[in-house]
Amino acid sequence: MIDLHTHILPGLDDGAASLSEAQRMLEIAAGDGITKLLATPHFMAGWFEPEPAQILAGVEQLNQYAIAKGLQIRVLPGMEVALSPEVPTLLQKGRLLTLNGQGQYLLLELPVGDIPFYTESLLFELQLKGITPVLAHPERNRLVEENPRRLKEMVMRGALVQITGDSILGKFGRRTRKITQELVKDGLVHALGSDAHSSQHRPPVLKPAAAALAKLLGPEKTDIITRADKLGTFP
Ligand code: FE
Repeated sequence: MIDLHTHILPGLDDGAASLSEAQRMLEIAAGDGITKLLATPHFMAGWFEPEPAQILAGVEQLNQYAIAKGLQIRVLPGMEVALSPEVPTLLQKGRLLTLNGQGQYLLLELPVGDIPFYTESLLFELQLKGITPVLAHPERNRLVEENPRRLKEMVMRGALVQITGDSILGKFGRRTRKITQELVKDGLVHALGSDAHSSQHRPPVLKPAAAALAKLLGPEKTDIITRADKLGTFP
């Protein structure tokens, strides 16, 4: 399984509080059967602005721990980039990290209560640069919840969707679970992320969510999501 969205790196955002906490999270993820985990600290101008080099160093440090402990898991670099009109400029300046630094997929977070008017044109601008936007847990956006059609249109135009595992388990409430189930059944979900911030609160665990997906989709379509097949192959 691939966990496409975690805040495992310490000291960069509101995620892991320390290196030992990050190591605990890595052990939990490995124990859950997660084999690749993307470290995606927030990039939110004015709040969190991690440097790509810091992320790469943090990932390296955790991978050394995984190797030393014989954990069957590898950490890959990424970012969860808050949607803003500055995203293309930041990208051009090398301030943002695409998933695994491959220059192909950018994990983008919509604001919780809004889908800004420029969203679609921004996604299109990224696509013109050869970058596929991956929307981070849009099922938790209030407007998507009220009216999923705008999200569906974005997906029809090539955006991908990562849901939070806990959404399908009802941990964000019944309405979020219901919209998540609808998105899943409509084939609009492409990857799972734990969005883990610590070993206690929403830990990096995906198995229960994968089981819930399998009930809706059957095992084969579930595997396509848990391996994030739509995002190609991560090394
Ligand atoms: Fe997140």
